Amino acid sequence: MRRRELAGIGLAALGGWALRPVVAAARRGPTTPTDATSDRRGRDLLVDGQRLNDRLRHLASFSSAESGTTRLAYSDEDLAARAWLTDRLEEAGATVSVDRGANLLGRLAGSDPSRPPLLIGSHIDSVPAGGSYDGQVGTMAALEAVTAIADAGLATRHPIEFVVWANEEGGKTGSRAFAGEVWAFELDIVTASGYRIDEGTRRLGGDLSDLAAARRDSGTIAAYLELHVEQGFVLDRAGIDIGVVEGIVGIKRWTATVDGFANHAGTTPMDQRQDAMVAAARIIDIVHRIARETPGRQVATVGRLAAEPGAPNVIPGRVTFSLEIRDLEMSKIDDVFEEIRRAAERVAGEAETRVGFEQFYESRAAPTDPRLRDLIEGEAARLDHASLRMPSGAGHDAQSVALLAPVGMIFVPSRDGISHSPLEFTEPEDVTAGANVLLRTLLALDELDL
Ligand SMILES: [Zn+2]
Repeated sequence: MRRRELAGIGLAALGGWALRPVVAAARRGPTTPTDATSDRRGRDLLVDGQRLNDRLRHLASFSSAESGTTRLAYSDEDLAARAWLTDRLEEAGATVSVDRGANLLGRLAGSDPSRPPLLIGSHIDSVPAGGSYDGQVGTMAALEAVTAIADAGLATRHPIEFVVWANEEGGKTGSRAFAGEVWAFELDIVTASGYRIDEGTRRLGGDLSDLAAARRDSGTIAAYLELHVEQGFVLDRAGIDIGVVEGIVGIKRWTATVDGFANHAGTTPMDQRQDAMVAAARIIDIVHRIARETPGRQVATVGRLAAEPGAPNVIPGRVTFSLEIRDLEMSKIDDVFEEIRRAAERVAGEAETRVGFEQFYESRAAPTDPRLRDLIEGEAARLDHASLRMPSGAGHDAQSVALLAPVGMIFVPSRDGISHSPLEFTEPEDVTAGANVLLRTLLALDELDL
């Protein structure tokens, strides 16, 4: 069954999700390939799906693992894949460079040199024992868009700049350097490939000794567009081709500490205990319930827990656990946290214990630009693809670029929602669909005065 035909069925199964599906209008009929007489130049251009998927498979050969992809940032495999990409970009007539953050750039000139570039791309580094789609689909789709534009001899008004961000998986170093968000202390951090960030950056042709020089000013990019695999199962389960990303969720993390009284597990009667573990267990259940029952799409997770003294025959005197809340709006995170905190204090009190929360991490939410969302949705419909507006629960380079320019993100389905695993998979036809939406949105953006 075609994905489109599944769309109506899948949506019902999504239950509480506040979904706004846009199913392609059948009356439009199939789209036709490039037509020189089109009123909007190049707007019917399509990518070469065969070339795109062949190249995506070839990219997977730059890997230190047999199955899936292991291409750690700054590794030999990263270097080799970039050299291959450089050749493909030069073949397409792009001017290739590496910036100070070790981001690989390929530029096609625009017909109006006064305009800032439209930026498209993603990353090619992977986690250890990762998959061959995360970052790589978006990178190859961006390369394909550049190649299709060059092959068609199309002159866009804005320059088109292709980018491979450096070290996405190890902390989005390249895109954060681009946005001026890398701290000096980070340069000494040893990455998964064994290279320190400053060393690794130099290996790829960058230089972060002057962080201020590595950043781009806002206004120097007209807009940024990134295609990425969803890494979740919303699109796959709903049978929808294209996700229109509303933004990358913000994250706050706290350490919760529950203090009770450590005592003998055999001699202390059940009604005389100040058991920190019992209070923690009740609080964790409340975290889950509040996150589920509060209207919205927030998620809350307790992922780490430790009991002291941590012996089978001692009532725990202290339990610490992590609390993480994510949402597209930071104020929503704060509201959900406040509700959890109040409930947790009540529950802790009932168990003769005390609870406190200390925040240790924050990542700002990065909404995508509403104009780009509308364009992506419209171009998906023109291509007869069902689309769905959704948040991104995972972090992406677009988050950094959002500090400088309007950003848009397109998702394509991940089979069974599996990612960061050799089992990661996206159907070739979905890769092509996403690349066509990327290309068409890029051309639509070129018509705007950004
Ligand atoms: Zn990624």
